[in-house]
Amino acid sequence: NDFTELALHPTILENIVKMKFKEPTPIQQNATPLLFAGYDVLACAQTGSGKTAAFLMPILSKLLSKLSKTASQNQPGARRTKASPLALIILPTRELGIQMFDSARSFAYKSWLRPVVIYGGTEMKSQKEQLAKGCDILIATPGRLIDAIERGLVSLAKVKYAVLDEADRILDMGFEPAIRQIMTASDMPKDEGLQTALFSATFPSRVQVLARDFLKDDYIRIR
Ligand code: AMP
Repeated sequence: NDFTELALHPTILENIVKMKFKEPTPIQQNATPLLFAGYDVLACAQTGSGKTAAFLMPILSKLLSKLSKTASQNQPGARRTKASPLALIILPTRELGIQMFDSARSFAYKSWLRPVVIYGGTEMKSQKEQLAKGCDILIATPGRLIDAIERGLVSLAKVKYAVLDEADRILDMGFEPAIRQIMTASDMPKDEGLQTALFSATFPSRVQVLARDFLKDDYIRIR
């Protein structure tokens, strides 16, 4: 199993074996070690390339290796005021959110990491209940995330990893102001406190501007 070369956390490796992945795809071979090493990454990746695993594997592995369950609010009896995710994955649509949530659950299986997905076009009530149970990995569409922040349901203060997935579609859908608002929010960690990955199928100049504005200067571009 070539995944052993990626230095994944044992729980993540076990889950990959359960998912019957035999060997890493090219985007996984390229992006995963760089994300492990801590670089900000701008990656060109189509749906079907295995891009989801390319960032979930290193991010979830690093969370499990560096932090213990005490970092999570997902504990019985924990007193929570707001959900404070450790990783934030922003994507353009509800459908992509649900798919990402399913993937995150598969990778996080039998670990303390609890994924939650929130998206617009539906009532907040059940999403609010899910957030209140604790959230380590928040998967969100931009508008609903801002809504949740403004309602005091989510704090960005503990985010260590941020992923903008399908960035070109996020921009096409008019979410650029929302993305800028989220990434510059006063409680969002900055500089060395945050590692950011931007995945996009295409690279119009607006995506490159987003990368310039929100990735560290030494970010690595993967074609
Ligand atoms: P994605 O491009 O992230 O949407 O993934 C496309 C599909 O490929 C998903 O169903 C994944 O479960 C699957 N997949 C991702 N990585 C691998 C791999 N290394 N080996 C086999 N299947 C994979």
